[in-house]
Amino acid sequence: MGHGHPAQHRLPHGRHRTQLGDGLVRAALAGIDPIDGVPITVVTTPQARNSRDYQGRSACQGNSSCIPICPSGAKYDAGVHVRKVQVRTGCTVTRLVPRPGTASPTVVFRDWTTTDRAEEQVNGTHVVVALNAIETPKLWLASNLDNRSDQVGRNLMDHLAEEVVGLFGQPVFPFRGPQSTLSVETFRDGDWRRTTGAFRITLGNDGWGRTEAPAAALDKIMWYPAAKQLKHYGQDLQDRLAHRVTRMMRIGYSTEQLPDPANRVTLSDQRDGLDIPRPKITYKIDDYSKRALAYGHSVARRLWQHLQDTAGAENIDPLQPTLKYNGAGHPMGTTRMGTDRATAVVNADGLSHAHTNLWVVGSSVFPTAGTANPTLTLAALTLRTADKLAATL
Ligand code: SF4
Repeated sequence: MGHGHPAQHRLPHGRHRTQLGDGLVRAALAGIDPIDGVPITVVTTPQARNSRDYQGRSACQGNSSCIPICPSGAKYDAGVHVRKVQVRTGCTVTRLVPRPGTASPTVVFRDWTTTDRAEEQVNGTHVVVALNAIETPKLWLASNLDNRSDQVGRNLMDHLAEEVVGLFGQPVFPFRGPQSTLSVETFRDGDWRRTTGAFRITLGNDGWGRTEAPAAALDKIMWYPAAKQLKHYGQDLQDRLAHRVTRMMRIGYSTEQLPDPANRVTLSDQRDGLDIPRPKITYKIDDYSKRALAYGHSVARRLWQHLQDTAGAENIDPLQPTLKYNGAGHPMGTTRMGTDRATAVVNADGLSHAHTNLWVVGSSVFPTAGTANPTLTLAALTLRTADKLAATL
């Protein structure tokens, strides 16, 4: 159950098994004072992962490789539903062509498994574009569809992510479940947002997450890389591994990014192997989001300090923010949703303002980014679109 989740709402699955480390870290942060007046409440993050066998997909096996991919199928991804529909593989849509009257656009595509890759086409009552926040505006622009709002491709957003890493005071045995199931969401909103973006904090169960891969950590402990010799042997090596690898922990933070019309997807002069224009991406990070990163770092540092003071944790990171952030791989925006066709591409149901029976689903319809990972929101919006579309049939 997540922060702000209605207590009376019954979730379809039970809780995931609590990781050893999650329990220890949650207990260690239980008594912390508010930071800058903001309460530190550790909550369980809503998961799109099965905690039990469900509709032919297994329960979470606890292998902690959810990013980039879940090998067991416990984690939801779009492939779950793609496998339920008829898919024509080996084809790439090259453009949509509007038809007169109330008909949806014609879908033109090339089958790249054929020798000549000639254009083919298909017509349907409805067309749903579900190509993510880069390819959806690219197809729209390459098709020269109606863009009177001038919003197609604009407001590309991501979450900027960084983390503070160290060693917990006792073994937490990471890498034995979903990569993160705990978070602090109380910095999603507050007075500081007049000048500084919101952020969320995640407590990782995946060692040092994006800072150092487990194999690299092991290599550092074990090897003189130039000489290709083992540094330590026997009990000494065992002790060093137990001291470090079993206690690795991270506190991550990721920020909202403002919708900036100048951050955008347009068409490149280059074309791909199917003669489709490549996307050209213009993107920069605004100061508002950079200040959120710095503030997130400050809060994460103070959480670490508490773990050092009360739970014997050791910090590894430098004291100052590095601003060596990563993108979170959450592209959003670019076909924004809104009630006014002058400033939005689709309406609240995901239906195009400009074209008949043309729907868009995915995080491209987000008008703002918030702090939360987009999957659950985009899935909820897609279900709403599906209901609205089904009601028209
Ligand atoms: S831990 Fe992650 S990768 Fe492993 S089964 Fe669970 S969801 Fe899938």
